Amino acid sequence: MKRKNIPYARQNINNLDINAVVKVLQSEMITQGPVNIDFESYVSNYCNSKYALSFNSATSALHGACKALNIRENDIVWTSPITFVSTANSAIYCGARVNYIDIDPETFNISVKCLGDQLKNAKKEKTLPKVIIVVHLGGLSCDMKEIYKLSKIYGFKIIEDASHAIGGEYDKNKIGSCKYSDICVFSFHPVKIITSAEGGMALTNKSSLARHLSLFRTHGITRDPSLFSRKKEGAWYYEQISDGFNYRMNELQAALGLSQMKRIDKFIKKRQLLARNYNKLLANLPISNQKQSDLAYSSYHLYIVRLKNFSKDSHRKIFSLMRDNGILVNLHYIPVYKHPFHKKQKTKFFKCIQAENYYKEAISLPMYYDLTKDEQNRVVKTFKRILLSNI
Ligand SMILES: *Cc1c(COP(=O)(O)O)cnc(C)c1O
Repeated sequence: MKRKNIPYARQNINNLDINAVVKVLQSEMITQGPVNIDFESYVSNYCNSKYALSFNSATSALHGACKALNIRENDIVWTSPITFVSTANSAIYCGARVNYIDIDPETFNISVKCLGDQLKNAKKEKTLPKVIIVVHLGGLSCDMKEIYKLSKIYGFKIIEDASHAIGGEYDKNKIGSCKYSDICVFSFHPVKIITSAEGGMALTNKSSLARHLSLFRTHGITRDPSLFSRKKEGAWYYEQISDGFNYRMNELQAALGLSQMKRIDKFIKKRQLLARNYNKLLANLPISNQKQSDLAYSSYHLYIVRLKNFSKDSHRKIFSLMRDNGILVNLHYIPVYKHPFHKKQKTKFFKCIQAENYYKEAISLPMYYDLTKDEQNRVVKTFKRILLSNI
């Protein structure tokens, strides 16, 4: 009998989730309505932010965040090369030039040392970034205090791409508190920590940013008379006062997301447990793990290992053999600037040696709430056998 494939990530859906969605389907409002507002309040309370705005994806929320921070044609934005392409795309949609700062080889997050060095150079060359988008890879927070300090010295704004990181913490604050950032964005894609099928949210403590985000997701349209340029012409009246898109989350998505939020702490605890098991079971193998800092509590969206002393070719073989054995490992991520589209972008290019080395060695092992002990043991057994087999 062929054994079931083990994916690298998947959603957990229970009857409460299903009932919540069905209840919306049976109600009057299925696009905008009260459940979106409840979902937003639940997330902002959980994270201790003043505002939370739902979007139909993290990508659209990131786009909104870039717009709210006034990124325009030819502005400079920096981010990590080890992220999903949409982090960079959100700035490119606004006409920005994106550049990449190398990662720390131990945490796989943006290197504060490189960031500091590049900022010093950029100041001399008058090419300082307007915004830096940090990425909490796998749910592990970046070194936000240090990045925040640099933002005060060099005058840039900070977006957290926390697509992986809802439920994680930094210095005892929930990620999303925006203590050290202007805007923080979560993704609710099914592979992430909680899901709304598709969806995202942008959190902030600043009312002006919240207003921008709110207009931007709904065509730049307002019904608030205090924002009108002209007199209200009748009960039907509204004005489009800025640019915007149809980036709204619908009520079905919000109902699923809200229902999932009620299990988030359970989800994170299980992920933490799976990570501890992996750490134990994979000890003494020629690999290294993502180094956890004392300040960070990871949501463990991903469990990433780096192979030690294997060639690029062996990495490729090990990866394929895992998949051949039904363990659907993944690689997070191809350095963004290597994609043909991003190669063509107008940017002064910094080579990211650590990111390139990481790319030759990284493998994401299966990590999700429903991964059983037996399945995890099968992953470990298969991985050990392949690693130790003279690849
Ligand atoms: C998943 C992801 C996104 C995009 O999220 P969507 O909700 O699918 O738009 C952006 N950045 C990172 C780091 C992600 O992992």
